[in-house]
This record gives sequence, C-alpha cells and structure tokens, in this order.
Amino acid sequence: MIETSERERGAGRKEAMREHGSPQPARPIHCRICTIIIGRGYEEKRPIPLTHGRGFVCWQCYASIRRQAARRAAERQEAEDAPAR
Ligand SMILES: [Zn+2]
Repeated sequence: MIETSERERGAGRKEAMREHGSPQPARPIHCRICTIIIGRGYEEKRPIPLTHGRGFVCWQCYASIRRQAARRAAERQEAEDAPAR
C-alpha cells in the first residue's frame, strides 16, 4: 500500500523536479531575441531566463529589455505626473 502511494507521488514529483532542479540547461540554447547560441564554450555563457517560462535571452538583450522597461516606466510616470490636458 505504501509502495503504491510512494510510486504515484514520485512519478508526479519527478516531472516537476526536472524543470525546477536544473537552473542551467545542459544543452546550448538560443537567445529568444537575437537568436545567438548561449551555452558553455560560446560567446554568451549565461542565459537569462525570461519570466513565465518564455525561454532565455543573452545578457545584451536582457540589458536592452531592462533599459526599455525602465524607459517605459519613466514615461508612464511622467504621463501620470503631467496634467492630462
Ligand atoms: Zn540576445
């Protein structure tokens, strides 16, 4: 009885563990934006994971995303501060 429940639980766990267990993918992956290969032995070694599991980007694109986000946030802030008309 214990054996059965453990096996069932183990099967479900293993699937979840595989995704969470390895922070760095073993195989080289492509940047979602500029599509360069990221991985060991390549120019870009550290992939930056995107939110919501949308893949990975290289540092250059990550920095670019950050800049864009910061600018957009600043623009939004200005629009809020400035009177509508
Ligand atoms: Zn890139």
